[in-house]
Amino acid sequence: MVTLTILGNYGPYATAQGACSGYVINADGFQIMLDCGNGSFSKLQKYADYATLGILVITHLHPDHYSDIYCLRQALKYQMREGNRKEPLFVYLPEGPESLVNEMKQWEDVFTVVSLEEAKKAVNDFNLFQLKFFPVQHQIPAYGVQFCVNHQTLLTYTGDTGWFPQLEEHCRGSRYLLAEASLREYELAERGQCHMTARQAAMLAQNSGAENLILTHFFPENNLHQQQREAEQNYDGKIYMSGTGKTYILQP
Ligand SMILES: [Zn+2]
Repeated sequence: MVTLTILGNYGPYATAQGACSGYVINADGFQIMLDCGNGSFSKLQKYADYATLGILVITHLHPDHYSDIYCLRQALKYQMREGNRKEPLFVYLPEGPESLVNEMKQWEDVFTVVSLEEAKKAVNDFNLFQLKFFPVQHQIPAYGVQFCVNHQTLLTYTGDTGWFPQLEEHCRGSRYLLAEASLREYELAERGQCHMTARQAAMLAQNSGAENLILTHFFPENNLHQQQREAEQNYDGKIYMSGTGKTYILQP
């Protein structure tokens, strides 16, 4: 069974009870964490066993997607010292900003850093599942992620991205689309290069043939009811509004 649990769904800062970007895929006990934003590590401890985490993917190095890696590093160090974990964690990262990547590469006692620039060139096969990565449009190097079983795409996560023509092609045929919906419509002209509205996320799901759409990466000020309505007007499939602790069984 494959599940997706939302740890945090806010950016660039979270509400009092919430957390920034963080998600866990559990594939028959193998845990993949997607993004590690502020607050997501404390939530992770409630919904997963971080000591046995298999892979961490950081889609881009903005604080709302990576900042809890500092906490995770300390926690994994402790677990390794206690003998609860033997191997470093594989961390997939973009190649920039360089200063951050270099800092994380130094923590080789707990992390084995893998470049997304390299990983995107091929299907990354882990027997039970495959991971694919594709570049998206943001202020800094950023990637979307696909989780596939038997080479069928079960989940596509957009990360943070503005809409661009090839995005539909990247997301084509995914059963579930976890898409960012940061912006309100009036913000589009100013910030549309880097983020999407709920309407754009819905059109992306519609045009790429996704069967389920999970909206995420909300600004705390957003009106989620309105965003849901905007999505419903542009998409025929099932829409879910993400929230901390929500778990979705990803049906193949
Ligand atoms: Zn973000």
